[in-house]
Amino acid sequence: MKEILVLCPFGADPGLLSKAAALSGGEVRALVPQGETALAAACGAARIVELQAAPIGDEARFAAFLAERIRGWSCPLVLAPATVQMRNIMPMIAWHLKAGLTADCTQLRMEGELLIQTRPAFGNSLMADIRALSPIQMATVRPGTFPPQRGEHPQPGVERLVYCEEERVTLLSYRAFAGGTPLSQAQIVVAGGMGVGSREGFQKLERLADKLGAGLGASRTAVDAGFAPYRCQVGMTGITVCPRLYLAFGISGAVQHLAGMSGSGKIVAVNSDPKAPIFDYADYGIVGDWEALADKLLQEEIL
Ligand SMILES: Cc1cc2nc3c(=O)[nH]c(=O)nc-3n(C[C@H](O)[C@H](O)[C@H](O)COP(=O)(O)OP(=O)(O)OC[C@H]3O[C@@H](n4cnc5c(N)ncnc54)[C@H](O)[C@@H]3O)c2cc1C
Repeated sequence: MKEILVLCPFGADPGLLSKAAALSGGEVRALVPQGETALAAACGAARIVELQAAPIGDEARFAAFLAERIRGWSCPLVLAPATVQMRNIMPMIAWHLKAGLTADCTQLRMEGELLIQTRPAFGNSLMADIRALSPIQMATVRPGTFPPQRGEHPQPGVERLVYCEEERVTLLSYRAFAGGTPLSQAQIVVAGGMGVGSREGFQKLERLADKLGAGLGASRTAVDAGFAPYRCQVGMTGITVCPRLYLAFGISGAVQHLAGMSGSGKIVAVNSDPKAPIFDYADYGIVGDWEALADKLLQEEIL
């Protein structure tokens, strides 16, 4: 089996690491930030590269640095989560390595030495199987696409890698972009759509999400209406999630939304329209007003 390198310099992606371990028969080299070696090992990484400094500004320089390391490690297969930063950095690495890169994959499999990379194409109307013929094959995968599997490597090797950013970028201040549970790692997602009707409605859902320890999700239409920020958008043009429980409030169930959440363990949909398409995919459907149920759950003591 060929070794697979998983690049997670900004935070380990347990689902992607687990998938790489399954594809490579345990031959995974994971690059993770300081403090995340135990998580990488728990997901089956055999070799762990602990990055000593977080790159903060010059992505082109960081990409060149990583490309040089990848050459040194002779890794034929390179994966990364399709986060905002890695979506910028992976094409630059691919350019340095003259490697084929497929972005935003939703499925991966091996056919002999070839990595078959599946992703939606033509507005989600078909799934394309893509293979790169370059010696190095690269892909990004939407965070949350693959469920994490525990598969501890008995004795992972750990090496430290120091990255020094030149003085070209100075960090003046730092503020966390979003509070609460990151959507892609949430075990429960409370999501709202146009049926929620207002920003105030979403504030209520946010309170419910906090109470349940859940991440807050939204449909694209709700995001476009300004009810929720883009980081909450679930679906084809947003984040892919696979929580154990997905609570959909006032969401109709358009295919583009389903593309981002249909891998959820259990789906509970609340919609006032009994013919809403979401009910075809929901494990439990409640025909009624979203707010009545949200209020009830907020009052519930046992949660
Ligand atoms: C190229 C492209 C990419 C797209 N990408 C995405 C994407 O990533 N994510 C995404 O979500 N969409 C995406 N869309 C948009 C998608 O097609 C739908 O328009 C969108 O998902 C609909 O959002 P919605 O369900 O919130 O709104 P609507 O379709 O308007 O549904 C609102 C629902 O709320 C219900 N409702 C109303 N009042 C209440 C109430 N009081 N209580 C309970 N239910 C109520 C209604 O019955 C209705 O079913 C994309 C579209 C295109 C063309």
